[in-house]
Amino acid sequence: MKFGGTSVADLDRIRNAARHVRREVDAGHQVAVIVSALAGVTNQLVELCRSAAPLHDAREYDAVVASGEQVAAGLLAIVLQSSGVTARSWQGWQIPVLTDNAHGGARIREIDGSELVRRFLDRGEVAVITGFQGIHKETGRITTLGRGGSDTSAVAIAAAVAADRCDIYTDVDGVYTTDPRIESRARRLERISFEEMLELASLGAKVLQVRSVELGMVNNVRIFVRSSFDKPEDIDPHGTPPGTLICNEEEIVEQHVVTGIAFSKDEAQISIRRVADRPGVAAAIFGALAEANINVDMIVQIISSDGATTDLTFTVPAADFDRAQAVLGKFKDPIGFERLDGANDIAKISVIGIGMRSHAGVAAEAFKALAERGINIRAITTSEIKFSLLIDAAYTELAVRTLHSLYGLDK
Ligand code: ADP
Ligand code: ASP
Ligand code: MG
Repeated sequence: MKFGGTSVADLDRIRNAARHVRREVDAGHQVAVIVSALAGVTNQLVELCRSAAPLHDAREYDAVVASGEQVAAGLLAIVLQSSGVTARSWQGWQIPVLTDNAHGGARIREIDGSELVRRFLDRGEVAVITGFQGIHKETGRITTLGRGGSDTSAVAIAAAVAADRCDIYTDVDGVYTTDPRIESRARRLERISFEEMLELASLGAKVLQVRSVELGMVNNVRIFVRSSFDKPEDIDPHGTPPGTLICNEEEIVEQHVVTGIAFSKDEAQISIRRVADRPGVAAAIFGALAEANINVDMIVQIISSDGATTDLTFTVPAADFDRAQAVLGKFKDPIGFERLDGANDIAKISVIGIGMRSHAGVAAEAFKALAERGINIRAITTSEIKFSLLIDAAYTELAVRTLHSLYGLDK
């Protein structure tokens, strides 16, 4: 059972989470609990680091931001104990959750679940484990898994103890066809495949951290997204509560062409005009951006008409827009291009569905519908089960709603 920040936002909510845990324990289930920091706390800690020094040591950033989860785990253990449930809190390093040393965005390498299982069996003890945290064994330093990383902690621990299911308790009662905060007609999906969820999450739906879905897919952990706001005692612990099951494609009976729509507003577009069209140019440009740790996403290159120069357009996170331009500016002479154009108020809208593998013309319908709304498309990319469009950020909501109804997702 994993509880996100809003689900443990204050003592009342922590008590509420404890009642969910208690219901499952009383029903005879063996549970481990993973918690996020209290809502807003991680943001505050990140901000404190920034204020202390804009450029700071990532190891110390981790030492600071990992503290939020420690408080949440301790408090939940106290509340559980006072309601008669045998419980003990654990920090990432105590389990241990072993990670690499990519501070601020570490990846889990290994978790030994045997001690957790032994304690269940010997003492019937509920482990309350801090999400988000790990430890790099060689240096002994605390690491964190990147924002939203408690989801990944939960799925990794579920895999380590061979759990029947990993329940993600959050502030919505499942995964919706799009973010319900943007489109009130969004519908809850009963089931969604790992592959589609992976696309939804990586293209902007922050309901689950991308890495958690990857881990679920690789280790075949059934992930169930559900609400912590449903009254704990009204739920039948042996029944099927409202929620969304993320599972293998074969387990999904009802297939749609389009399953969901994701969006991300923090995109910037850079176009390099009339860049020399010869081998090694793209390698030099994108190599330099990679070296500066700038993530490049959509890349579109125009076939040159004269064989001498071409236009290269791509996107980077809006936060890296200035830095990317500075990196590229240095290449003007050695590589040779006419100018850099850019915009940093761009949104990426993505339409996802396994059915696209076998249906033609799905994207064409979107182009027409957006044109009718006067929304200009700046770039398009497609892959087997999704396509993405770049538009001006001001039209994000309109575009999401237009496509949501175009593909019949609100019915
Ligand atoms: P937690 O604190 O529990 O980890 P998050 O805020 O990280 O919760 O994730 C839940 C939020 O994700 C929801 O409140 C919702 O606004 C947002 N969200 C974005 N896209 C979707 C989607 N397709 N389905 C459900 N929620 C979504
Ligand atoms: N508390 C961390 C964050 O805000 C981890 C999480 O909530 O999943 O990013
Ligand atoms: Mg989250």
